[in-house]
Amino acid sequence: CGVFGILGRDDAAPVVTLGLHALQHRGQEAAGIVSFDGTQFSVERHIGLIGDTFTKRSVLDRLPGDRAIGHTRYSTTGGEGLRNVQPLFAEFAGGGFAIAHNGNITNALTKQRELQKRGAIFSSTSDTETILHLIAFSEKTRIVERFIDAIGQLEGAYSLVGLSQKKMIGARDPLGIRPLCLGDLDGAYILASETCALDIIGARFVRDIKPGEVVVITENGIESHFPFEKPSPRFCIFEYVYFARPDSNIESRNVYEVRKNIGMELARENPVDADLVVPVPDSGTPAAIGFAEGSGIPFELGIIRNHYVGRTFIQPTASIRHMGVKLKHNANRHMIEGKRVVLVDDSIVRGTTSQKIVQMMREAGAKEVHMRIASPPTMSPCFYGVDTPEKSKLLASRMSIQEMADFIRVDSLGFLTIDGLYRAVREPGRNNEAPQFCDACFTGDYPTVLTDQGGKDNVR
Ligand code: 5GP
Ligand code: SF4
Ligand code: MG
Repeated sequence: CGVFGILGRDDAAPVVTLGLHALQHRGQEAAGIVSFDGTQFSVERHIGLIGDTFTKRSVLDRLPGDRAIGHTRYSTTGGEGLRNVQPLFAEFAGGGFAIAHNGNITNALTKQRELQKRGAIFSSTSDTETILHLIAFSEKTRIVERFIDAIGQLEGAYSLVGLSQKKMIGARDPLGIRPLCLGDLDGAYILASETCALDIIGARFVRDIKPGEVVVITENGIESHFPFEKPSPRFCIFEYVYFARPDSNIESRNVYEVRKNIGMELARENPVDADLVVPVPDSGTPAAIGFAEGSGIPFELGIIRNHYVGRTFIQPTASIRHMGVKLKHNANRHMIEGKRVVLVDDSIVRGTTSQKIVQMMREAGAKEVHMRIASPPTMSPCFYGVDTPEKSKLLASRMSIQEMADFIRVDSLGFLTIDGLYRAVREPGRNNEAPQFCDACFTGDYPTVLTDQGGKDNVR
């Protein structure tokens, strides 16, 4: 998901709309904005793309105020449906509060059951609602203390933006699994998932919110708190591989540059004799550029993407996902015919995309088709806000690399090593005693307890 908030601009909701538009890649199912005008909160939540739902004058007119927060939704837990669209809003004893969440709480269900025993009534199936209830049940008095009390009980991944009558609150979980940054637009503070959302409105990047940090923003400025013991950060390394937009900078690294480094590492680790390097657009493109540079093999757009379909992976049902791939990509036959092609993609999840693309290359007359993947094999599901399917559906958890190669019918298949991935983010390699990132989908090494799953040993 994507989150965005601003405090101190008369046209807060239109600015949030633009920010969310730049964060659309983080969630395409639905979006919402909550604003506050000094007297009341206004809530608009819609299924669909920002450009289709929030650009209408009437919708924006219903969101007055100089502060607003917003969310683009990509459902991992909780499922679809308007009742799960964020920001969620509640009226507490002390006033209204809205919250937008990127990530996934790994003890939300456990907490939900406890809260239900104490009388809480849930109106959504989203893990984020648990946070609202924990705030409501807190015995502290002030909203910031109650918020901190609530998030102190959470386990898992959260980058949060909250809005009360007087304050905008930003928070990152102690591991800093999901990104969140601070920006400034002519003196108005901004919180955003990625820096590309600051660029779109010409805001200045101030800094990343730190893992475990809570920032409280009012008209008078910003305060920072570190309420928890500070464990070592474990930012999601997959943000660099796939999830974040390439023009964003996260933790002082440019995402595009990391992806190019990945491609160079991949070419070094998995060389191949071929005529063309072809990206599976768009997610494989920066890595393919790096692969071409590293290998000296020419880069060509051998597959053309139709930009008017969303990310195939994000469409919820299997049959649609299946259809989506054909709608989305077409072989550029003129470039492919008679050639030995190296395809570069960011990851293999179920293998559906790779299978289709390889077949498309063969039908277009490729002489050989080699596949190079810009990450290690995806072996384990993510419980922190990226929608990987259960373990048994992950191709790499069922098959060896040779079996995968046979399944997608390539002449050769190569993945990046985990150390190669760490080198691409300018680390010497993975520190196995204290890994610098979350890489659980590749290593199975989850950085939290996974309470709702019944522990790390129970992962399915
Ligand atoms: P597959 O077809 O193997 O199931 O999915 C792989 C494709 O899905 C890749 O092209 C990748 O760009 C895309 N993808 C989209 N969202 C995700 C995600 O959340 N995780 C992973 N690993 N790949 C994703
Ligand atoms: Fe990111 Fe993978 Fe960790 Fe999920 S499991 S947070 S996708 S690195
Ligand atoms: Mg892709």
